Amino acid sequence: MAQNENSLVDKFGRTVDYVRLSVTDRCDFRCVYCMTEDMTFLPRKQILSLEEIYQIALAFTELGVKKIRLTGGEPMVRSDVMSLIGKLGSLPGLEELLLTTNGAQLDKYALPLKEAGLSRINISIDSLDAERFRRISRVGKLEKVLAGIDAAREAGFDRIKLNSVIMRGYNEDEVIPLTDYALSRDIDIAFIEEMPLGEASDHSREETTCSNEWVRGQIEQKYRLINSTAKTAGPSRYVQVVGKKSRIGFISPVSHNFCEDCNRVRVTVEGRLLLCLGNEHSVDLREVLRDGASTHDDLKEAIIKSMDLKPERHYFYDKEHAQPVRLMNMTGG
Ligand code: SAM
Ligand code: SF4
Repeated sequence: MAQNENSLVDKFGRTVDYVRLSVTDRCDFRCVYCMTEDMTFLPRKQILSLEEIYQIALAFTELGVKKIRLTGGEPMVRSDVMSLIGKLGSLPGLEELLLTTNGAQLDKYALPLKEAGLSRINISIDSLDAERFRRISRVGKLEKVLAGIDAAREAGFDRIKLNSVIMRGYNEDEVIPLTDYALSRDIDIAFIEEMPLGEASDHSREETTCSNEWVRGQIEQKYRLINSTAKTAGPSRYVQVVGKKSRIGFISPVSHNFCEDCNRVRVTVEGRLLLCLGNEHSVDLREVLRDGASTHDDLKEAIIKSMDLKPERHYFYDKEHAQPVRLMNMTGG
């Protein structure tokens, strides 16, 4: 097979060309929808080394993957993550190297990240009110994240995107302030519906989840939106705001199921290749990597074979189907 020809096609005919790699399950925040307050994190020997993560990324790009997103937990708390980013930035065949971060360390790292070859950056922010920001993140400081967003803009990243999870009783009155903030800076913003990944310790998810239809309705009270045809090879559906440069994305895994165009898989920091966010189908790549008899080709073979396990769709909140017990930080958001 020619190098970089895509050989990752599942049994429903979907081609996988996008991988989300988790570099840590740890984080300097404890967001209420993502983690419980007293988390226990994985011991070091269970997590992949940076070299193992690189080997997995290399295998995926050799199999035709064009886009890699680094996530976690908070990727920027993994020590020496910059060296990994530098190596991934020059992987042959990789068209986009992306990062999702809480932004708390971007004031220091935005420019080095750009120089290391990162193409784009997503920054999560759920409130513009310092006290409320702390309530949602349990420990985060809003001013650090705002400084991080400014630093990312100054570093010259192409399209910066904010991610906001809107939750009833927490921040549903911030849809417009967050939109205004993004629009006034020509950056994009995506609203993500809260997903039932593991048990939340501070609230009942079914009561807090806001549908994106409702969020869009709020925005339309102030702005005129037109559906965009832009494809991002990701799960967002985008709209253009009339008269503005920014786009608004809606990631609606709960109210809408866009599984038919799913083009992605995830690898947890334990090396578990997860075929679907909302299901447990997985393959243990760490076992292949650490089995002294396995070669790089065996790793690629395990990834190719995993395609047969990719489920057709997820079933969030459907009582007929088991719900994921993994929290988002263990999944790789
Ligand atoms: N720490 C980084 C951050 O917060 O951007 C990267 C990892 S985080 C798990 C990735 C994304 O997942 C964030 O935008 C976060 O808001 C989102 N997220 C976490 N738990 C979620 C949940 N239960 N439902 C929906 N989105 C969630
Ligand atoms: Fe950390 Fe991101 Fe999860 Fe918040 S959403 S706790 S910042 S990993």
